[in-house]
Amino acid sequence: MNTQPKTMNRPAGRITIDLAALVANWRDLAGRVPGAETGACVKADAYGHGIEPVVRALSAAGCRTFFVALVEEGVRVRAAAPEANIYVLNGYADGDTPALEKAQLRPVLGSRPEIGAWLVENANATVPVALHVDTGMNRLGLTLDEFRAVAADPALVERLRPALVMSHFACADTPDHPLNGVQAARFAEMCGLLPDVPASLANSAAILSRPDAAYDITRPGIALYGGRALSAQPNPMRPVATVEARIIQVREVPAGAAVGYGATFRAGRDGRVAIVSAGYADGYLRRAGASDAGPGAHAAIDGCPVPVAGRVSMDLIALDVTDAPPGLARRGAFVELFGPTIPVDTVADHAGTIGYELLTSLGRRFERRYVG
Ligand SMILES: *Cc1c(COP(=O)(O)O)cnc(C)c1O
Repeated sequence: MNTQPKTMNRPAGRITIDLAALVANWRDLAGRVPGAETGACVKADAYGHGIEPVVRALSAAGCRTFFVALVEEGVRVRAAAPEANIYVLNGYADGDTPALEKAQLRPVLGSRPEIGAWLVENANATVPVALHVDTGMNRLGLTLDEFRAVAADPALVERLRPALVMSHFACADTPDHPLNGVQAARFAEMCGLLPDVPASLANSAAILSRPDAAYDITRPGIALYGGRALSAQPNPMRPVATVEARIIQVREVPAGAAVGYGATFRAGRDGRVAIVSAGYADGYLRRAGASDAGPGAHAAIDGCPVPVAGRVSMDLIALDVTDAPPGLARRGAFVELFGPTIPVDTVADHAGTIGYELLTSLGRRFERRYVG
């Protein structure tokens, strides 16, 4: 939820979400695959950006198809987008029928037991389904043989009324990986078995690296939110979220003094350290910290990068602001933890993870503001 408890007069920090940048990213991706419809993955609260504002902004821009992981997420998308097609990627579970029917959500069926359960409970379903075929990831989806058997059974296809056939790349972020070509060829063959059903294969990385695999509907997630989809190339997307925390104290630290838990980081010179009000409890991962053994991530004050000093605490981060412009690093000022100056993926690199994890880990103590 994006609403703040009423008692939170002074939140840890704020997340500013630029909906104009989000829409620009969606249009950019759509422009790369003009023959396909461009959908949007809004699972996990729209990668931490807030389902409702994101869905409303993308709907207004013309997005008609949304993908979520869970039924509850689909219900929220439906409230924000009354006309959209909404697919539930994690599929169908017994008991989902009333919610799926009420919100007109389309389950993505990916195993024989799931198809069986769907048919038992949904003989009169008013929603179509998607069929997920596994082409090499071994996560969700029918095996190739299972899919062939379904496609060869016209009565079954008629009962299921699939509105979409989809698969998912395991290695789209590494365009040279040989599995990509294998999966693309298998998917082409599977689609050929149900030629009248629209097909979907491409996530963000695949849109950027192999637009030939766009098929009928794309499913971008991370690139919509400005994250890096292809690790080995410059990221062409605009940042969407700016995460800031407030400085609550600035202190002088002499050369050689230790900063933070474990005393694992010592100041290399006389300088100043700013303590900001956010920490790993807010999703700023502890592994982004610095020690004498190696630097950590940077934050930024007014566009000027400043390094993290020492370990990240639960509610606090120390920054070496010695080189920040005088007067800017002061109590009450906001510092950017990531955003337009410090890419989320750069912080993620320091934390040994990916931008997806940082974005979806952002805590509830931030105030969320929407602009654009
Ligand atoms: C999350 C997800 C996507 C979006 O992937 P990105 O890498 O964020 O673009 C697409 N398809 C499926 C099946 C997913 O689970």
